[in-house]
Amino acid sequence: MEGRLNPPKPRPVAFVTGAARGIGRGIAIELARNGYDIVGNATNYNPAQTGSGLAEVQARVEALGAAFAPAPGDIAELDQHERLLAVALARFQRVDLLVNNAGVAPVIRRDILETTPESYDRVLSVNSRGPFFFAQRVARQMMKQVAVDPTLPAAIIFISSISADTSSPGRVEYCVSKAAMSQMARVFAHRLAEIGINVYEVRPGLIKTDMTEPVQIAYDAKIEKGLIPQKRWGLPEDVGRAVASLARGDFNYSTGMIVEVSGGLNIRRL
Ligand code: NAP
Repeated sequence: MEGRLNPPKPRPVAFVTGAARGIGRGIAIELARNGYDIVGNATNYNPAQTGSGLAEVQARVEALGAAFAPAPGDIAELDQHERLLAVALARFQRVDLLVNNAGVAPVIRRDILETTPESYDRVLSVNSRGPFFFAQRVARQMMKQVAVDPTLPAAIIFISSISADTSSPGRVEYCVSKAAMSQMARVFAHRLAEIGINVYEVRPGLIKTDMTEPVQIAYDAKIEKGLIPQKRWGLPEDVGRAVASLARGDFNYSTGMIVEVSGGLNIRRL
């Protein structure tokens, strides 16, 4: 009788952008391990290519007993956002967690005195403008869900970078994009707090992925010399576990919090 009055809560659904590789892949797998069904976005999806990309992540997620819906598309293109969210709603009818992770580095690192408008616009479009408007769209959807059932928590997590407040004159457009993302996380957190949607910023340091592959040898040497107090590269699962902890609600009374996952790079040292 009681069961009929209180239907079981639906499984929570996470939308992870840039989920095909690196940090986004680590986040998707860790969230699946924590009971989330996953909508995974990346620039493309080839179901026949099961050894890599979104199809490989899909297999890993499904092996953990979670459902996976691929949502290929370019997060920088605002006219694709409606379709991307529609993938989630068609399959799961809800989004409980958005992880805005997709991002790019400049194609060529150039000194701040040589930064081109093309590179600036590209990096800002993918890393800031796209995530801002996608978060806006998903937040509106979450508001509808929370209005129906306020006991089902919703959250948005922005994957920024230590570059949000660290200077790299060789890729200023990346630093600017992540500083902008940091501020949007703060303002969304402020605005959405009264609605019951928590917003967090996760700042990875040096994480071993395709993005950092071109500089891995250079940073291996710096890490060996003590650049990072914890003396190792970060791994995608380090970020995935931090995101899962936020998603579980362990920091429920801490909206707007910045979680740095950098092995202590944030510690000012003498
Ligand atoms: P990565 O290995 O290069 O993977 C990037 C992911 O984002 C890929 O799945 C890629 O899709 C996707 N992506 C790129 N542009 C996209 C777009 N326009 N629309 C949709 N998806 C797009 O990068 P990562 O190292 O995992 O970085 C993930 C995030 O963490 C980025 O925001 C990055 O700035 C941030 N971060 C990384 C580090 C680090 O040390 N690695 C440190 C701090 C912050 P495809 O697979 O289809 O190309």
